[in-house]
Amino acid sequence: MIPAVNGSVQTTGERVVVPAHGTTYDGDARVFAVLEDRLRRLPGFDAFRLTPSDDPAFLVARRVDDLVPGGYRLDVRADRIAIHSSDDEGLANALTTLYWRIREGGGDLAGETVVDAPEKPYRGFLLDCSRRFFDLDTVTGLIEQAALRKLNRFHWHLSDDQGYRIESTRFPALNEVGSWRTEMDGSRYGGFYTRDQIRDVIAFAAARGVEVIPELDLPGHVTAIIAAHPEVSCSGEPAEVVTMPGIHARILCAGKDDAIAFAKDLLDEVCEIFPSRVIHTGGDEAPKTEWEACPDCQRRLRDEGLSDFEQLQAWFTAQIIDHLAAKGRTAVCWNESLKSGTLDDRAIVQYWYEEPGAYADGAIGQDRRYIYSESKELYFDYSPAMLPLRHVLNSRPRTADGTEFAEDSVLGFEAALWSEQIYDRTRLEQLAFPRLLAVSERAWRGATDYDDFLTRCEREIQHLDSDGVAHYPLAESDLAGEPQRQAIVADWKPKIDLVRQFGQGAFVDAILGIVRERMEGEFGDDDIELTLQELKA
Ligand SMILES: [Zn+2]
Repeated sequence: MIPAVNGSVQTTGERVVVPAHGTTYDGDARVFAVLEDRLRRLPGFDAFRLTPSDDPAFLVARRVDDLVPGGYRLDVRADRIAIHSSDDEGLANALTTLYWRIREGGGDLAGETVVDAPEKPYRGFLLDCSRRFFDLDTVTGLIEQAALRKLNRFHWHLSDDQGYRIESTRFPALNEVGSWRTEMDGSRYGGFYTRDQIRDVIAFAAARGVEVIPELDLPGHVTAIIAAHPEVSCSGEPAEVVTMPGIHARILCAGKDDAIAFAKDLLDEVCEIFPSRVIHTGGDEAPKTEWEACPDCQRRLRDEGLSDFEQLQAWFTAQIIDHLAAKGRTAVCWNESLKSGTLDDRAIVQYWYEEPGAYADGAIGQDRRYIYSESKELYFDYSPAMLPLRHVLNSRPRTADGTEFAEDSVLGFEAALWSEQIYDRTRLEQLAFPRLLAVSERAWRGATDYDDFLTRCEREIQHLDSDGVAHYPLAESDLAGEPQRQAIVADWKPKIDLVRQFGQGAFVDAILGIVRERMEGEFGDDDIELTLQELKA
């Protein structure tokens, strides 16, 4: 089982039988329905039924208040299996452990008491459904596989330059215009999730102990929104939903009151659909060229006494944080929002990447809360050639300057599956696994013992195979030296050739820059130069 128990396991010597045809339970029906559904997929358990019963049920869930959120106590005894937890997530985690015991041992269990709790409260995975509009089976399939590893936060990236994916009843143009783009070959691509579909995903995840956190990326990465509503941009010029990846210049105007009101209305709509305690509001990669040229943004800068346009972004973000706080929600922002030095302390910061020296001393405050997603350790759109499995398990929260985050300030870890180059479910799963297992192990146990992890990983690979989940072979997930270098070439050469074919020379240089940066520190200069030569050839 991954993650392994982070606590204690005491066996009783008893033999405990879980009948293959089913048994009785007393507890939250929707969480027990997940156990029933999972067990029915196992050989011999296809007729397994769970029936509610007050007295005396065989599976009993009880609430206590002396366990940490997500933690649980599981007592497996001949006459009863009892679960204690302080919340829904703890119950879901306990039933997941019970499921793995049955899956790995059959219906004949050893009596035991398991006391288990997560090291980190936040164990997340991001799926980008803007660049790629994944079908609901793919989305829920990923949630299920993640929940089986006790990951508990699904960060759903639903809005970006390449498409707006949430049904909007207040602003229908967001779907009529903003959800669709024209691909390189002239075809139309896109779509959106209806409110009912989204609520189904939220319920599916909640029954598995997973909270769905939506991202409405503001004020950058909004070309799809501006395509539908050009009036919320600085110039008001029309725009088209973007097809190419990268950073795009059109951003939401921070000077026009109507644009601010629009952003708040959109957040209201998102909050209506998503009950999550936190809402991700983006804040990454927002070029300031439009703001600098905009009379409204310049006026805002003067009126608010701000010294530069990074501070204007902080001001904009503060409007959003206040708006969400009034609804009892907390904002999460990408780390660029820290640049102003004036980001509101209430915001949680998701750290993904920064140039060395980007922050003044002390900008990484010990009082702030962080989610760690550093791109060299947790951006799974990079294949294992560039981001081997061991780097994930060895994630160590620190900035590009090497400043370590205070242990308590890091809520947890999140792996990101950006989808510019993920065209189907198979590729998505390959990039997710087995590396998502390492995120789980790192965040649940704080474990970094790679050899121990690898030993257990081999069995997990068999489970992925029998569940029909695609994955990289373990050996290819952890290359080093010359085989790794060759895999990097094999991985990037076709991408460079493709970009060249479309006449995007600037992108070739950008890709070579990324390859160089990512190889530095792990490879010598000669190897890096050789790789770049081979990629350019
Ligand atoms: Zn403006």
